[in-house]
Amino acid sequence: MTQPLPPYVLGRVAGVEPLTPRMRRITLESDDWQGAASLAPDQQVKLFIARDGGTPEIPGAPEDGSGVAGWYSRYLAVPEERRPWMRTYTPRVLDGERGRMVIDFVLHGPDGADHGETGPASRWAASAAIGDVVGVLGPALAGYRTPSGQPVRLLVGDETALPAIGATLEQLPADVQAVAVIEVADAAEEQALTSPAELTVHWVHRPASLLEAVRSVSLPEGEVFAWVAGEASAVRAVRRHLVGERGLDKRVVAFTGYWRRDLTQDDAPTEQDVADATELMAELPS
Ligand SMILES: Cc1cc2nc3c(=O)[nH]c(=O)nc-3n(C[C@H](O)[C@H](O)[C@H](O)COP(=O)(O)OP(=O)(O)OC[C@H]3O[C@@H](n4cnc5c(N)ncnc54)[C@H](O)[C@@H]3O)c2cc1C
Repeated sequence: MTQPLPPYVLGRVAGVEPLTPRMRRITLESDDWQGAASLAPDQQVKLFIARDGGTPEIPGAPEDGSGVAGWYSRYLAVPEERRPWMRTYTPRVLDGERGRMVIDFVLHGPDGADHGETGPASRWAASAAIGDVVGVLGPALAGYRTPSGQPVRLLVGDETALPAIGATLEQLPADVQAVAVIEVADAAEEQALTSPAELTVHWVHRPASLLEAVRSVSLPEGEVFAWVAGEASAVRAVRRHLVGERGLDKRVVAFTGYWRRDLTQDDAPTEQDVADATELMAELPS
């Protein structure tokens, strides 16, 4: 069975707002999002950014039923000098009434004044202005696991996971206890998080270790569902701790590497990435 191809649209920048020194909130709008509904708080979209800063050239949907895979082959066939950069982001808000999608971008870069200089998506976000356009494919589900009634929710990540963590917390039922452990550069990067659930947030300022922070957190009594995302090696280490040291069942630990140190999203998966994906697929219910 082929997957249906998610609708590809051009989103126009309708608002730009600094969230913190290293995060910029960009509101996109498109008539095609009228009536759109969120799939999950950690849903993802693929953004397409033109290399010349204009309108990204994107192939149309294949008519041969080859779905997403067929479309991706056509995307790769666009000559590299014209092929838009493709990057993955989380819609912090998808507002189907106003046809708007809000995305919070980390402006990553070497510490110092040049935040946003390291990658094309971060660079685009750092300079985006009203009227600029970006291609958007999705949303699609990002996680392969969803909680099934566990009364304790542990959310762990760095700032790239903050949009998903923020959206997740806002949607939790009031009768769960949520613990969030979030790594950011410093106190200026902390964001106000709210939830109907009973919430405890632990902010971790670099260079302190996310793993050590998770290790030292005491969790409320009760069954736990954990969600972990952020830099891939940190995600792996936290997952190993939760399963190996805390004894959580692998099936209640959702984890996704959101970015890889010294690798771009254009770079091929490493052996470790493939091993993670293989293990994840093997654990999914058939
Ligand atoms: C499902 C999913 C959801 C995501 N949601 C969000 C989101 O909502 N907001 C968000 O900001 N990011 C999000 N990300 C992460 C984002 O896709 C990556 O950070 C991506 O690499 C940024 O693209 P780029 O073009 O800026 O950098 P790239 O060209 O991919 O990388 C260039 C260099 O920057 C480094 N780099 C990449 N990201 C970071 C970072 N965060 N900090 C420090 N160095 C970095 C790379 O290691 C590389 O050396 C998400 C990723 C996934 C898989």
